[in-house]
Amino acid sequence: MGDFNTILVDSEVSLDDAPHEAARMISWLHGRGIIGPAEVEQGDCRGPDGSYAKVAVNVYRPGPSFKEASEYDETLRLSHNYLEVTTQRTIFTAGDNGIGIYCTRCDTEQTRLGDEWNDAFQTWFDGHPEPLTCVRCGHVAQLSGWRFDPVFGFGNLGFRFNNWFLSSSFVQAFERELGRPLTIVHEHP
Ligand SMILES: [Zn+2]
Repeated sequence: MGDFNTILVDSEVSLDDAPHEAARMISWLHGRGIIGPAEVEQGDCRGPDGSYAKVAVNVYRPGPSFKEASEYDETLRLSHNYLEVTTQRTIFTAGDNGIGIYCTRCDTEQTRLGDEWNDAFQTWFDGHPEPLTCVRCGHVAQLSGWRFDPVFGFGNLGFRFNNWFLSSSFVQAFERELGRPLTIVHEHP
């Protein structure tokens, strides 16, 4: 099996509030023993121009009670399992799981028919309204009004659990604690 990541994305929190909300959830996870203390690693950060840069990121290894968050009762490969928290405007993609953006009116997939979707992504990065027009039927909607399959997340706060099958009960508990709905992205890096 290849690597897989589950990213819990908060699409509603503001950029200003994201660090505080990240710290609150990290404290909750740590208190439950699901993660250990922070360690610093070099990670990839995708900038607004689409390029990648190496940045220092805090990662959290599984804690003594990590199984409470896991779907399977088996030992994780500890060197590859960690939580990475992002507190900046980010498009959380499905990676090698691909991209599919479907019109909610005519169900036409957009990325095979043009590059307009890419412009809408860029506009979202820049913090502006990001209307996307269906290349087939002319339906216009913000990116949040399109059906993404696989799911993509757009937001200022993301919790990426690397190589960690999260249980649905854990995800529900996480969402309750956060107090806002989560977008759940399955990424194949
Ligand atoms: Zn359409």
